[in-house]
Amino acid sequence: MRRASRMNKIPPYLFLELDKLIARQREMGRDVISLGIGDPDQPTASVAVEALKRAVDNPETHRYPNYLGSLDFRTSMAQWYHNRFGVELDPRSEVLGLIGSKEGIAHLIWAMAEPGDIVLVPDPAYPVYYTQTILAGAEPYALPLTAERQFLPDLSAIPENVWARAKMLWLNYPNNPTGAIATRDFYEEAVQLCLKHDVLLCSDGAYLDIGFDGYQAPSILEIPGAKNIAIEFYSLSKPFNMTGWRIAAAVGNPEAIDALGTLKSNLDSGPFTAIQDAAIATLDSNPIPFIQSMNALYQERRDLAVKALNNMGIPITPPRSTFYLWFPAPFGMSSQEATNYFVQYADVVLTPGEAYGDHGRGWMRISLTIDTARLQEGLDRMARALRDHPPV
Ligand SMILES: *Cc1c(COP(=O)(O)O)cnc(C)c1O
Repeated sequence: MRRASRMNKIPPYLFLELDKLIARQREMGRDVISLGIGDPDQPTASVAVEALKRAVDNPETHRYPNYLGSLDFRTSMAQWYHNRFGVELDPRSEVLGLIGSKEGIAHLIWAMAEPGDIVLVPDPAYPVYYTQTILAGAEPYALPLTAERQFLPDLSAIPENVWARAKMLWLNYPNNPTGAIATRDFYEEAVQLCLKHDVLLCSDGAYLDIGFDGYQAPSILEIPGAKNIAIEFYSLSKPFNMTGWRIAAAVGNPEAIDALGTLKSNLDSGPFTAIQDAAIATLDSNPIPFIQSMNALYQERRDLAVKALNNMGIPITPPRSTFYLWFPAPFGMSSQEATNYFVQYADVVLTPGEAYGDHGRGWMRISLTIDTARLQEGLDRMARALRDHPPV
């Protein structure tokens, strides 16, 4: 059996090595604490759970769903964007239901990019933008995210001949893995440049509703004129602890929504209607208090983790959003060395920064989606390891 040659172009998955390492440690009876995965540990909002139970009892929900998401779901999403961001959306042409935003992100690249095209991809970044660009036969062009620039790409440094071949620009703020946020000025520049070069501006909004110290992230669609060139992915996964449910939406530019909907209707059948009903109940319920309670919990964890890392001599400023901390590997270790070191000496798993791209090399990510006491235990073990087994 021989796989398609395009499969050879996908980079090796670093998490596989990590998994093997964890498995080996656990077989040896070690109590491994994983700070690697960004997956909320708290239960889904109860309004969603109760609504799903009711919806499943209705046989109407058992049939094929609407390909584009039910009009009720799309209307709720439009209302949410109105309430939350002051952005007006036409539920019929500017909102599309997704089986999680990962699916929509991947398929939008297939709907837009082909051999000869460039896709502008931040580095480090959520790996899907890069791998799907490669699989679609298009060319990723890396936009370095550096601490010096607050992890915002330098769009003015993109050469004209790159803009000329570019089809899409991917942005993800609040940002995974760096925890960075976008300024309004940066968004305005991005919209202006994408309009000028006719490049679809793709905003991955997975963390729009995670925010600390009162921070509320803007939608890119708040920028005047953005809807002429931008699409945004809003996911219920992270703010409502619904990663397993697979429910999200693409919103914004109607041509891009139509391209994605056309592709998707040829390969899937939309999200399960009962899950859409649960999402409607959640969005319509005034979910702000739920969002605030989760943010308060992550903020408490953020503060204890930042303090612990600073005490280890690891410099880090508290991020305003996301449930990640992004920091240089201590003692000048490489990401991979630091990953192995903390597994070996602390039974703690961190994510090596290079899993998110070349510019993540030398960086580490920890996730705050773990029971607070367990998080503290993991950090204590890291501190003890650095004291008792100083890396050289
Ligand atoms: C978690 C995550 C997603 C995927 O979310 P789903 O809607 O659950 O598919 C997309 N983008 C980023 C940056 C993420 O961290």
